[in-house]
Amino acid sequence: MIALRTNPATRWLLGAAVLASLALGANPARKAFVRALVGRDGQVPMDMFLGTSSGPGLAPAQHVRVVLLDGLGAATASGLPALSAVCAAGQELRIDVGFPTVSLPVQAALWTGRTQQQSGLQYRATQLEAPPAGATPSQVPGSVALAESHPEIVRSFGFTSTRPDPARDPEDPEAWRAAFPEQAVQAVASSSRLVHVHVLRVDEAGHAAGAASSAYTEAVRGADELLGRLRAASPADALWVVLADHGHRPAGGHGGEEPEIRIVRGCVAGPGIAPSPTVASIHLVDLARALADALGAELPSDARGRRWSDALADPAPGVTLPRPGAMRVAIAGLLAILAIGWGVRSDRSSRWWPRVPWALLVALVGIGVMHGWPSLSDPPVFAPRGLQLWLACVPAAVLALGLGLAGQSPRAQLAPALGLFAAALVLCRAPEAWLLPGLGLGEAGPPLMPRWSATVSVLFVVVRSVAEGAALAWLLRPLGTRLRSRTRAGA
Ligand SMILES: [Zn+2]
Repeated sequence: MIALRTNPATRWLLGAAVLASLALGANPARKAFVRALVGRDGQVPMDMFLGTSSGPGLAPAQHVRVVLLDGLGAATASGLPALSAVCAAGQELRIDVGFPTVSLPVQAALWTGRTQQQSGLQYRATQLEAPPAGATPSQVPGSVALAESHPEIVRSFGFTSTRPDPARDPEDPEAWRAAFPEQAVQAVASSSRLVHVHVLRVDEAGHAAGAASSAYTEAVRGADELLGRLRAASPADALWVVLADHGHRPAGGHGGEEPEIRIVRGCVAGPGIAPSPTVASIHLVDLARALADALGAELPSDARGRRWSDALADPAPGVTLPRPGAMRVAIAGLLAILAIGWGVRSDRSSRWWPRVPWALLVALVGIGVMHGWPSLSDPPVFAPRGLQLWLACVPAAVLALGLGLAGQSPRAQLAPALGLFAAALVLCRAPEAWLLPGLGLGEAGPPLMPRWSATVSVLFVVVRSVAEGAALAWLLRPLGTRLRSRTRAGA
């Protein structure tokens, strides 16, 4: 493993120490990585250009009603009667909610016009201590928000009042859930200028049983029925905005950047909205601008969302997604190529098979077949023990053991695996957001980047399982040598 001019026993011990640390250390390190990913706030500097905005914004509205159907994917949303009625009366939208697709950070973008990267609220799930500066609800006197559950989200944005209200609503979540539809209808019917209703049953069913389940379909139906009741109770002159904050995977889960999760159906109808037969693609920060304009609120100065007519005219696909820059991609590519080269050179004989990282390839195929391309929407990517990912790598571990016993250098497998791992770390900003701050250098943040953060979590498990097989082979090697020499001596 390590080309040192030392005696074989020292070499063996060193190799064993390196392999054992990789096999045993990978999972604790992965846990720390996942904790940093979901547990920290932190901004990401990024160049984002949505174009200059000169067209007219939405005209002020006397009443604005915002219904957010948490976790409702665009495909499922397309066939809903009450939702489709809102779209038919106005403008149907495909809304890019940005990354990551997590409820509180997405609502922060809706109410402030700043993306998750700008606000630094990326995987945040707990209530904000104070509303973000420039949040629209705090600028609208008498604004009201109701949440079916998880009231910490609506309590984060400066609404004048939120429900459930500990002073007047049932403390028991089930009792509140039963009272919620009627309370929502009353609020929507009231004279409050801004009423926001956060419906959560669809997201809850998605987490419990997945978007392909009958429980999800049932919850979606119930949510759409409630939307119909709310619409019927609304002041006639209200501007209606109905949207979701993300979709759900067929087996449940969200958080990643996949279009099925990130791009949701939205419907806007009412004063100032010309009924349109076409579907317009916009960004959530554009919708934030429209809401602020309708409510006479002022968004923070760095909010990039465009005025309504400009937003409708240019979909600017994917422009709010963070991306690794060219320099980062170059460094990652170089690391991967050097490491793969180092692995290939581990065997100088004329044989070709020991130069190929077979076990690594099998691990990647195993992950691909069982989990697809890694995504933060896939719950096993966060699981502390990584058991489901590890199971996909068991054949690779067995192969690494067999190849090691057959005499392949562990370097042939592990150098390329570590190279890919290092490349993914660079691509997800782990060096500056996680590793260096861990050593006291720079400011800690979440190592979050579409696609690459999930890949790092998966590659931790790949490195671990290949190292497990290689380590076992390495430990058994002296035994094999002794057995062979004894057999020879016996003959
Ligand atoms: Zn959720």
